Amino acid sequence: MIPGSGPLRLFAALLTLAGGATLATAATPDPALQALRSRDAYVSPQTLGPATVAGEARLAEAAESLAGSGHPVKLAIVAGPSGAPSMLTYARRLKRTLAYQGTIVVTAPSRPVVAVGPRAPAAITRDLRAGRVGQIADPIQRVVEAAGRAVGAPIDDGAGSGTLGVTVLLALAVIGGAWAAAWGLRREARRASAALAGERARVRVELDALRARARTLASRPDPSPAARGALDRAVAAYSEALVQIERARRPEEVRRAVPPLDRGLAALAEAARALGEPLEDGGLYEGLCAIDPGHGAATSMAVSADGDEALPACEQCAHDAAAGRPPSRRVVPIGGRHEPFDEAPPAREILSG
Ligand SMILES: [Zn+2]
Repeated sequence: MIPGSGPLRLFAALLTLAGGATLATAATPDPALQALRSRDAYVSPQTLGPATVAGEARLAEAAESLAGSGHPVKLAIVAGPSGAPSMLTYARRLKRTLAYQGTIVVTAPSRPVVAVGPRAPAAITRDLRAGRVGQIADPIQRVVEAAGRAVGAPIDDGAGSGTLGVTVLLALAVIGGAWAAAWGLRREARRASAALAGERARVRVELDALRARARTLASRPDPSPAARGALDRAVAAYSEALVQIERARRPEEVRRAVPPLDRGLAALAEAARALGEPLEDGGLYEGLCAIDPGHGAATSMAVSADGDEALPACEQCAHDAAAGRPPSRRVVPIGGRHEPFDEAPPAREILSG
């Protein structure tokens, strides 16, 4: 019998309690919460693995775009709702704990993408549904699209501020750029058959050209509501086509991208007309960088690494060529060989043939 075992036992119990509490706190800190205290983007390494850093940079870029347009956001891809019963509860808890006034958008593997912000929950839900953001396979793209809609940016109505819909600017800044190529598409392409990779590459170059043209038109000052609406539709179609080529698992499935690609081109032509700059009939690549149409408008000339004739080129390509680093022209696989992108027949002809 140990004298004073009562108080000792009580002390031991208190110690255990304190230790237990400390342990419990230590076991459940939410890394997303910690990260979002000091920055606007977070990606759990458990979700994207080696692509975590690139993915988080992409989210940060989108958050910065939105903040620049007066819509502060915090964007996150987490492993799960961290003890909360649902993603929505989790997002609300994040917002409350951070005492954040802007919009928080968060998703997790096999979970929906949710957003909480200053707008009414019903309005946010309606806009996310209308954008079918839950169907977007790439989690980064899903969060970015959801953010553009959750902040209540003008989508198609042309009303509101004198700037382009935030969704357009965001999509042009983020979706389908080098990031998509570096992560989703390229990783998938490695796994895919050569045939699938070839089909994707040919549609991809046309989509990049569509994006480059939309970006050029989007930079015009004071677009009319009609131009704005048409550009929004062009970008929505572009995004849809991108998702289709990403989802394709067999070469023939890539042709699902052709209808949205055609819609995007039609909307682009409409936007150009509305801006008083009707597209010339020189084809999709007319006026774009001949090294890679995805670079944007040709405002200079450059000799490529594989030719000796000066081609219309973007500033960057011209700069690289002048600095003794001539860029190589973009190629696509055709019949087992790699050919310059503009020597390939249009993707829709290959796909329907
Ligand atoms: Zn270029």
